[in-house]
Amino acid sequence: MSEANIDCPFSKLFPSQLLRDDGFYMSLAYNQAVDAWREDEVPVGAIIELGGEVIAAAFNQMDSLRDPTAHAEILAMTQASRAIGNWRLSGATLYVTKEPCPMCSGATLMARLKRVVYAVGDPKMGCLGGATDLNALPRVNHHLEIARGVMEVECRDILQAYFRLKRADPAG
Ligand code: ZN
Repeated sequence: MSEANIDCPFSKLFPSQLLRDDGFYMSLAYNQAVDAWREDEVPVGAIIELGGEVIAAAFNQMDSLRDPTAHAEILAMTQASRAIGNWRLSGATLYVTKEPCPMCSGATLMARLKRVVYAVGDPKMGCLGGATDLNALPRVNHHLEIARGVMEVECRDILQAYFRLKRADPAG
């Protein structure tokens, strides 16, 4: 806990509550990414919106929970399901700062989410269009609406800055 790189140089955003568009919800997901950095976790954040309400907010906690499934999206989907008392998140939208990995992309389909909005594409592990597209499986009945690139610059900056510091710190 003593490493200097825990100090996050990025500040949280305070978006206007008046216009609740994709940028508004992604700002909240970005704020979760800032929280992740403050816990010395890879800064990825997620929000789930349903009917104009935020029903879940989570960030990557793989290290603190020592759990390979503790990605922001999984934690957010679990929270959202508890909030509404139903594993089917029909009608809900997931906002996440980085394209979901194979596990999380699969879970978004299993949860029957309506939409997934992500900021930064991931050509290595992204499974909603980056490396491959699980949403395009030909025999799957449920398909997600996908939007990409919302707040891409900000969400990429915080990720890149984090990894730059980690590489510079031999203890990290
Ligand atoms: Zn994931």
